[in-house]
Amino acid sequence: MATPCSVIRPGHRYQLLRGVTYGLTLALAIAIPALHGVKFDIPAGLYYLGGEPAPPLRVVKAFLLLAVATALAILGSTYPFGRMFCGWSCPGGQLARLARWLHHGWPKRHLLLRHLLAVGVAFGGALICLNWFTHLAVLWEAGRPGFAGAWRWAAGLTALFYVEGVWLGFVWCERICPYGWYLGIMAQDNRLRIAFADPDGVCGDCAACAKACPVGLDPHGANFAADRCLTCGTCLDTCQAIFARRDGAPPLGWAHRLPVTPAPPAGEAGEGWG
Ligand code: SF4
Ligand code: SF4
Repeated sequence: MATPCSVIRPGHRYQLLRGVTYGLTLALAIAIPALHGVKFDIPAGLYYLGGEPAPPLRVVKAFLLLAVATALAILGSTYPFGRMFCGWSCPGGQLARLARWLHHGWPKRHLLLRHLLAVGVAFGGALICLNWFTHLAVLWEAGRPGFAGAWRWAAGLTALFYVEGVWLGFVWCERICPYGWYLGIMAQDNRLRIAFADPDGVCGDCAACAKACPVGLDPHGANFAADRCLTCGTCLDTCQAIFARRDGAPPLGWAHRLPVTPAPPAGEAGEGWG
């Protein structure tokens, strides 16, 4: 028999916040090369830094500095927040979520439309990448140097993102992305994490949190793998939406320095529930 939980759709609190962080990441990834903050136009042999043409070596150094600073910032956030970068900012994760939504959120009869939309999303991702290394006009001005090469790159990246988004989803993040492996190792002991504590026995065991998890975890189960958790909050949205219509506090929340499982005894619930 269906429990009351099983018919309640996920909430939107963290989903909306993720929309903001994803939007900011994408805006930066588009704006930096578009405004010539750091930009290579390899086919034309032009290089830009701070909005002005600059020698190639200076632009390469600035690009590497930006990449290293970004990597260090992500690594620094992993100890306290776990794989939050994967769940809240990574463009690959955004693509996987968007493709997952396109694939699962639309009626099956719109199969062709769903795939066309996924190809469109993948092509958009390819353009964002190419924009760092060439003027995008090279794609529609056949006379420009690099026209054929740019289309080869665009087609290859589109195929890659399409396969990632539609067929691999978060399998890409967990099993293929080397940065994801590294963050998975680093995230074993993160301080902020999802925890299940049900001293009052309010959990209906509906498994809605597990069904909502994009990486297939069961945050209310005994074998919750914290190193695979993206700290995305989708399960919290789901559980909180259920408890918005029921008495009692949701048994899932954020915890600080708590073991993830088993659930602590009554009176020892962690601090900082979300
Ligand atoms: S913790 Fe999971 S199983 Fe328990 S009530 Fe919340 S959504 Fe349902
Ligand atoms: S367990 Fe919750 S926070 Fe972790 S990845 Fe799954 S839905 Fe996101």
